[in-house]
Amino acid sequence: MEDYPRNLLEFEERFATDEACRDYLCQLRWPEGFRCPRCGDNKAWMTGRGLHHCAGCGHQTSVTAGTIFQDTRKPLRLWFRAIWHVTTQKNGASVLGLQRVLGLGSYETAWTWLHKLRKAMVRPGRDRFGGVVEVDEAFIGGQRSGKRGRGALGKALVVVMAQEDGKRIGRIRLKKVADGTAHSLEEAIEEAIDPGSVVRTDGYLGYVRLPKRGYVHEVAREGNDLGNNPLPLVNRVVALLKRWLLGTHQGAVRALPSIVQPSGCPYS
Ligand SMILES: [Zn+2]
Repeated sequence: MEDYPRNLLEFEERFATDEACRDYLCQLRWPEGFRCPRCGDNKAWMTGRGLHHCAGCGHQTSVTAGTIFQDTRKPLRLWFRAIWHVTTQKNGASVLGLQRVLGLGSYETAWTWLHKLRKAMVRPGRDRFGGVVEVDEAFIGGQRSGKRGRGALGKALVVVMAQEDGKRIGRIRLKKVADGTAHSLEEAIEEAIDPGSVVRTDGYLGYVRLPKRGYVHEVAREGNDLGNNPLPLVNRVVALLKRWLLGTHQGAVRALPSIVQPSGCPYS
């Protein structure tokens, strides 16, 4: 179902009222029309509090039950605006930006909302990658981001995995790891990539046991061709990640798990 506003104007016209937002959620939840989760009846009326009251058994269902909007006291309209803001910021949304755009009085509310939304943006029940996947690791945060061996003080080591989709990047996955040992790297790879897939890395020793783990290991060696980028997909992801961190957090990133999760990144 391609039913999504293409620009701010369409968004504002489409979701001008809480009723319009609620209708949209109903469409997503019950594309074939309402069904009572208790008795299966398809007839219901709306109560004053916006609940579906089943004509068959009297059970009341909220379209927001089990969603991030459950029990919210703020208007759905405001939530939809938050989602629009977060998903349209090219370099990622910040707490202050969200607070300003929504006119929220409290920084804490904006912080909570942003984290809820980032969490929700991670594909639910995400499955492992297959096909060809480029894998590299990068130090993020601290004074200077960079590759291994440049001093890891205050930095987080992140394994970056980018699935190949023709010449484009398919899905990506970022995973913070404790260190650059084969054990840590393999664990991150096994969590994200199906055995039997082709895993393309540079010549780092931490990857040499991948064939033993059931992967087809392809080593893209550096330096065999001047100006040749052996891992173009994953390098692009790292560049985007750094730009996003700089843009959103002015580079002030500490090695907390919540910061390096891919959830706030629009490319995951
Ligand atoms: Zn019912």
